Amino acid sequence: TSYGFRKVAEGEKQALVNDVFHKVAKRYDIMNDIMSAGLHRAWKDAMIAALNPRKDAAYRTLDVAGGTGDIAFRIVEASNRLAHATVLDINGSMLAVGADRAAKKGLSANLDFVEANAEELPFENNTFDAYTIAFGIRNVPRIDVALSEAYRVLKRGGRLLVLEFSEVEMPLLDRFYDAWSFKAIPQFGKMVTGEAEPYQYLVESIRKFPNQADFAEMIRTAGFSRVSFTNYTGGIAALHSGWKL
Ligand code: SAM
Repeated sequence: TSYGFRKVAEGEKQALVNDVFHKVAKRYDIMNDIMSAGLHRAWKDAMIAALNPRKDAAYRTLDVAGGTGDIAFRIVEASNRLAHATVLDINGSMLAVGADRAAKKGLSANLDFVEANAEELPFENNTFDAYTIAFGIRNVPRIDVALSEAYRVLKRGGRLLVLEFSEVEMPLLDRFYDAWSFKAIPQFGKMVTGEAEPYQYLVESIRKFPNQADFAEMIRTAGFSRVSFTNYTGGIAALHSGWKL
């Protein structure tokens, strides 16, 4: 394409991603606000509203690529602090920040933190009522494997929700968004961490991620039923939903 993407092998990709998040872990939350102009908060709130977590101590959720805990915290809060959420991430630095934040919010009793790969979940079949992943799946080298794992660990009747950057479907917004992401984000990244390249990689990974319809098809291929999606902010982000029936 015109952006001159580099070809990155699967193993190399995971190493690059890990490097980025080790470097930014402590500043991840503030970077998130800056790079999305705060929009990620509204998108995450909409995701939790779509999930509508059960207010029930038996309700078990898994938040994959959970990072510093934003999704899991919201689920626990929305369940009136009854539900349990497992935050899983491949990166111990991100989880450490998350565990710290959880303690400060007094949410630790409803959470646990697991360092593992989305492609190889350390859980039994049919364990969770919901599987969430926000801005994580595009970083996983084998998306089809991650989706199969999601299907495997969900209970029958369980819900998959994937929040991810997607294809912008508004003509003017897409130009603005291109300028923002290809110029501003690497520059902000450089200001905060001293390096632009890891951010360049993250921006490229957004562009390489399948569009709404293609990603919905991948979710169906993994076995999910009643697959649908909702665009947020003109498609900058999209929420995909599926059920294990
Ligand atoms: N879900 C959080 C949020 O929305 O704020 C964090 C999203 S952050 C952009 C992406 C996260 O994916 C990072 O914490 C990273 O370590 C994690 N990640 C990348 N590859 C992964 C993998 N293969 N398995 C599990 N987590 C992974």
